[in-house]
Formats: sequence, C-alpha cells, structure tokens
Amino acid sequence: MPECEKNGFQTKIIYQVAAFSIFIVQTEILIAKAMYGNIKKYLQQELDNIKKAGLYKTERVITSPQDALIRVENKKEVLNFCANNYLGLSSHPRLIEAAKAALDSHGFGMSSVRFICGTTDLHKTLEQKIAGFFGTDDTILYAACFDANGGVFEPLLTEHDAIISDSLNHASIIDGVRLCKAQRYRYNNADMADLEEKLKEAQAQRFRLIVTDGVFSMDGNLAPMDKINELAKKYDALVMVDECHSAGVVGITGRGVTEHFNIRGEADIITGTLGKAFGGAIGGFTTGRKEIIDLLRQRSRPYLFSNSLPPSIVYAGIAMFDMMAETNELQNRLHENRNYFKDKIIDAGFDIKPTESAIVAIMLYDARLSQDFAAKLLDEGIYVIGFYYPVVPQGQARIRVQLSAAHTREQLDKAIGAFVKTGRELGVLK
Ligand SMILES: *Cc1c(COP(=O)(O)O)cnc(C)c1O
Repeated sequence: MPECEKNGFQTKIIYQVAAFSIFIVQTEILIAKAMYGNIKKYLQQELDNIKKAGLYKTERVITSPQDALIRVENKKEVLNFCANNYLGLSSHPRLIEAAKAALDSHGFGMSSVRFICGTTDLHKTLEQKIAGFFGTDDTILYAACFDANGGVFEPLLTEHDAIISDSLNHASIIDGVRLCKAQRYRYNNADMADLEEKLKEAQAQRFRLIVTDGVFSMDGNLAPMDKINELAKKYDALVMVDECHSAGVVGITGRGVTEHFNIRGEADIITGTLGKAFGGAIGGFTTGRKEIIDLLRQRSRPYLFSNSLPPSIVYAGIAMFDMMAETNELQNRLHENRNYFKDKIIDAGFDIKPTESAIVAIMLYDARLSQDFAAKLLDEGIYVIGFYYPVVPQGQARIRVQLSAAHTREQLDKAIGAFVKTGRELGVLK
C-alpha cells in the first residue's frame, strides 16, 4: 500500500474508532441517565411520602461544643435536654487533654483493622478497663455499638439455636439478629410471662440467648434483669444486655443495670457505647465471657473488616474509666438532678412514664401537641424533642427529657418553669 494511502487508511480507522468510542460513551451516558431517571422519580416519591406523613427529619446546627448550654444556629443559647451526655463528659477537659496527648504519643489514625496492624497498647488497656468496670472476663472494641450488636450473634449461634428478643430492642440488635440464622422469638417489652412462654417454646433449640436493652430509650424504664436472670437459669439460656443508655447512668456507681439488680458479672454478654454517657465521641464494645470474646475476635465481621478506633478516642476512654474508678460524684449529681426534675414535673401535674434512668418521658399523647410543645420550649430556650408515632406507639406522643450531671439547679429550674408555662398555654395543665 502506498505511503499516502496507508496514512489515509489509518486516519480513517482512527476516526472510526474514535466515532465508535464516542458512540459508546454517549450510549453509556444515555443508559446511565435513563437508569437514574427511573429510580430518581421513585426516590423523590419516597421523600415526598415521608414529608406528607410529617416524618421528614431535619437537623438543627449546633455551633458550640456539646454541653448543657449550647449555641444553635439562628437561635440564642439554649439549654440542652436532648443529648445522651448523661455525665456531662462530652466536653470534659480531662478527656480533651487525654485525646490531645494520644495524638502526640500515638498519632492520628491506625490505617488498619485490629488483627492486621491496628492494635496498640492503648486498645488493650481500654479493653481491660471496660472489663474491670463491668466485672467481666474480657472486652472487644468496635467502631460503634451498632457494630458490636451487628457482629455479636452470627459468630456465636446457628440455625440450631434461639434468640429471644425484647420487642422494644434497639435497631442494631434487630439488624444483628437478622444476620444470624438462629430461630427468632420476640417477647413483649419487659413482659416476663411472655418471655417465659417464649423460653418454653425455645426448648426445641440447642442454645438459647435472651437479649434486651438495659434502658429502653423512649420510656426510660429498665429491663427487669433480676427476673430475666432467674428465667435464664430456669430455662437454660444465656443473657445479653445492651447497656448503651444505662452504663455510667444506672446503679449507685453507674455500673449499669447489672449493678442495679445486683447481678454484676452474671450477664454473659454486655454491649455498650462510648458515644453516650462515656464521653459521647464514638466507639462500641462487647464485654463478657472469655470464650465468647475470643470467638468474636476470630469471627465477628465488623471487627475483622472495619477500621480500628483512633488512639485519641481510645486514650480519652481510658481517662474516662479512670475517672469512674475514682469517684461516683457524677452519678450522684445525675441521680439527684433526675429526681429533682421528675418530682417537680409530677408536682406540676404532668403525666410521666415511670423511670429509673436519666430519661423522663413527659406524656402529651397527641402528636401535633408534642411538636407545638417542643417548638414553644425552644422559644423559651429549652431544647427538647417531641416523639410520636411510629417512633412511639400511636396516641403515645411525648416530650423526652434527658437529664445530665452537667445541668445546674438553676438550669433545671428554668426548664421546669418553661414546661409549666408552656403546659398552661397549651392547655395541658389547668
Ligand atoms: C445508641 C444505641 C446503640 C448504638 O450505639 P452507637 O455506639 O452510637 O452505634 C445501640 N444500642 C442502643 C440501645 C443504643 O441506645
């Protein structure tokens, strides 16, 4: 082929290839658009449905550290009664100092899961501190309690076994149970007769595990751990309790529901979070029997396939457990605050759910009313959230108040005053 023809031919091929590539790219874009176009419409409809049902969640922006008194964007300062900051540790100087020190001594990130190269001396120390706190054999850390609960059932139980779960258990327990092949039983919230029925049925399986939240976060009630423990012995079952809302809070020294019911060291599995009373940053754990924790380290998927907690978080956790070992001052103040607030609210004529936690559910029953009430309180400088169906049962709308050791008596009085004023304005109180 002569040189010029050859060039022309090559050019033609190049053009053809280029044109074909453009055609493919365009087609891909068209397909991509078409594919997203269909689901986009569906997603928009879903969002519209959520909005129509009045369930669309927006986020209020806080521009100060988390504390009893916070700054909220476009508002003056407000008193915070809706944080899980039960011990007031979210911005505690000692934890901030520890976190900073660990940044210098151990760096920023671990860039690894635990079993590859993500375990430091700090991680091992924190695991031992947690075990010491709850009176258990050993502890395994996770990125969050959502992961602890997500990764606890599947490694331990098979289709030959049974999980018997409280109907109000946290979403992460429900998801964890879904990932496991064990037979599922559900008993009505804290209903021991129903639990016993389910335990009888579950005699058909090889092993049985009863699982419950320690504190149920919408009512503030405790799981009856003493009775659960008795039934577990009678029907040969293991006991697991999620202490997320109870650890640091419940019990004279804040050791949680096992302290309150005098069964410390008897629960086989305890899960919990560093994201609530214990500093409020991030991190979860499972603590309990040695063989259980050992096997979780071998097989628990959120532990094996997710990053190790950063040293700053871990060292702040160690500092926090050291504080807990030194004094019950924060627990004392929290319990005092809870009792003071609860008694004054009852005296004022409000209806509340029985509580032994840091949660006081003030019942308004009507969904609209709960939203109006919370909005008026925010104008009064009190930040609380009104909950209604489907977060709580139909006709059970409420304001959930979360007390903290960080609240001063003056702040509690201001909140109580605002509740009474708003209660009168909205016709809840006579
Ligand atoms: C908050 C909470 C969790 C999740 O804890 P994270 O550490 O935030 O993932 C799990 N269980 C219960 C009962 C909780 O209240």
